[in-house]
Amino acid sequence: MLSIKNVNTYYGNIQALKDVSIKVPEGEIVSILGSNGAGKTTTMKTITGMLKPKSGNVTFLDEDVTFLEPHQLVEKGIALVPEGREILGGMSVLENLEMGAFHRKDKEVKNDIEKVMDRFPILRERKNQLGGTLSGGQQQMLAIARALMSKPKLLLLDEPSMGLAPLVVQDIFRIIREINKEGTTVLLVEQNARQALKVAHTAYVLETGKVVKSGLTSEMINDSSIKEAYLGH
Ligand code: ATP
Repeated sequence: MLSIKNVNTYYGNIQALKDVSIKVPEGEIVSILGSNGAGKTTTMKTITGMLKPKSGNVTFLDEDVTFLEPHQLVEKGIALVPEGREILGGMSVLENLEMGAFHRKDKEVKNDIEKVMDRFPILRERKNQLGGTLSGGQQQMLAIARALMSKPKLLLLDEPSMGLAPLVVQDIFRIIREINKEGTTVLLVEQNARQALKVAHTAYVLETGKVVKSGLTSEMINDSSIKEAYLGH
């Protein structure tokens, strides 16, 4: 569904991605693991058109989308749940959800708001509350729900577990699995390697801007160098 090929992305003179190639097959969950500064967020920004690579290309559903603008990629079916959630704190939960559907012209938006609130009952309870006053876990749910409002074929999640309590993390990963089972392909960036390997079919490990390892998570979970570097034993 999505393929990144030999991508090199820079911030000025600093090269943040070095010849990165990643494939996300339709229907799967793919995880990108890596420590701070490895280039995970830069990868997400390159896919969503916020950064343009100096060379290499991004293909989505057999179309070269490397130089499309972020809103065009949303229209094509790629939605991002950004690092730090980026909830509109001064807007209500309902208004945040409406923002997720900003490009849609169909008449199903109201109906879809009801559907995402069925998935996240807490958002229905809090629909008139300001986004900024929600708890961290509730904000993450709102960020995911807002992304779903664009009806994505591919959902990108940048560090969905960051700063959340263990039980909330479990909940978020359960929801990610459900969304995937219902037909949305998922690409996930995580520092929480244990969860990322558990939920995904395949994974890539990024180190200082390079893919240093990739494969089936069932195999990676037993890889001694992965265990040592990312699983803490
Ligand atoms: P984290 O989990 O800490 O967000 P990451 O894997 O997402 O890490 P990136 O944010 O993609 O890492 O950063 C990759 C590299 O690019 C880092 O060395 C970082 O310092 C650098 N970088 C990121 N943003 C900028 C920027 N705006 N200007 C210059 N360098 C940047």
